Amino acid sequence: MFENLQDKLGRAFRLLSGKGRISEKNIEEAVKQVKLSLLEADVNYKVVKEFINGVTEKSLGEEVLKSFSPDQQFIKIVRDELINMLGERSSPLRLSSQPARIMMVGLQGSGKTTTSAKLATLLRKEGKKPLLVAADVYRPAAIDQLVQLGKQIDIPVFTGDRRNPVVIVKEAMQQAIKNINDVVILDTAGRLHIDDTMMSELKEIAALVKPDEILMVVDAMTGQDAVNSAKAFNEALELSGFVVTKLDGDARGGVILSIRHVTGKPVKFIGVSEKPDGLEVFYPDRVAGRILGLGDVLSLIDKIQANVDEEKAREMEEKFLKNKFDLEDFLDQLREIKKMGSIADILEMIPGAPKDVDLAGSEKSMKRTEAIIHSMTLKERRNPKLLNYSRKQRVARGSGTTIQDVNKLLKSYDQMKDMMKQFNRKGKLRKGIKGFP
Ligand code: GDP
Repeated sequence: MFENLQDKLGRAFRLLSGKGRISEKNIEEAVKQVKLSLLEADVNYKVVKEFINGVTEKSLGEEVLKSFSPDQQFIKIVRDELINMLGERSSPLRLSSQPARIMMVGLQGSGKTTTSAKLATLLRKEGKKPLLVAADVYRPAAIDQLVQLGKQIDIPVFTGDRRNPVVIVKEAMQQAIKNINDVVILDTAGRLHIDDTMMSELKEIAALVKPDEILMVVDAMTGQDAVNSAKAFNEALELSGFVVTKLDGDARGGVILSIRHVTGKPVKFIGVSEKPDGLEVFYPDRVAGRILGLGDVLSLIDKIQANVDEEKAREMEEKFLKNKFDLEDFLDQLREIKKMGSIADILEMIPGAPKDVDLAGSEKSMKRTEAIIHSMTLKERRNPKLLNYSRKQRVARGSGTTIQDVNKLLKSYDQMKDMMKQFNRKGKLRKGIKGFP
């Protein structure tokens, strides 16, 4: 997501590097490049215009910090303007009623039903007990789809009368109270295009339910059409925020950058895969950092915290210290790394990480290492010294690699052990995943 924009903005910043100071003359080219980058990313043209005015004004104004170089100053100005556009912080759900009510609205195909299920999954992780309500009576398959998704994620789905959404919603609320569900998620009907009947029906449901949140789901792939329908929905209903879906596709990101500015309502979540766990809280400041190529260290830390098992890390450190780290532990470390996602995902979050890493090569090498260790017996993993020529031959055959690959892995392992020894001697071992081949 945003790679293209990041790349183009980088060009704008480079135009100013090496310049003595920001001047009207040298800023002009850079601003033009920023403008083109945003338009190409499919950002709404009105938003771009305001953005550019803000950037120009600040660049030439007094508030520029003199201790930074012009390109740094310019990056900071663009960053502030981006945050101004996106909002500074995430906007959490406000769920105060008992049970709390979230009404999902949006056009057909935007991902409303899928997002309802994803949101239920996310809320359950926070300790809530959600009830999903299938009130999309116009898309015949939607009710069955939600029932199916509910089964998959093990969250109850209320269906009721399949003709009248208002009746469904009334009954669902009663059921939620009876079953002590503390949050109700209503999947309402969408249409292919905005029409008056749909809007009046949604208004009727909203008046009845008095939702804590009305979230509109928009499909990032539909670009400025999404922004236009967001505007229309927001004028008809009291939206509280947006969920922008399908950001894992080749959407250019313009929707995310325009929608808050056009409607005044925040993006609360983003959809990043088709799977039930493919919904993330939207953090504008992190995204701004990512767009500017400043990395997304905060998301990386979150990811590490969510995936690294503290107990295991301590155990591993102990083993390092006692120099008892064997190939079985090596395999464990590889699994921990893999839990965090692909190397590409991880690198994308690290500021200044090289862009020309041979990712396919690294992933392949990790897989190869894993296959080789898998082909060893437990005894061999615990004591790699057992691996004589014929054992190595067997391991190479079993893992579909060559004896050179096996030797290479053993050599890296030996080097790692040597490194550990040195660290231990100096008494400054740090926790971490070190040196895999
Ligand atoms: P609805 O008509 O608005 O209820 O849309 P659906 O929930 O049926 O979604 C339409 C299609 O988009 C389905 O194939 C979903 O799997 C897919 N989809 C929804 N959200 C995402 C997302 O964030 N990423 C991807 N790749 N696909 C999504």
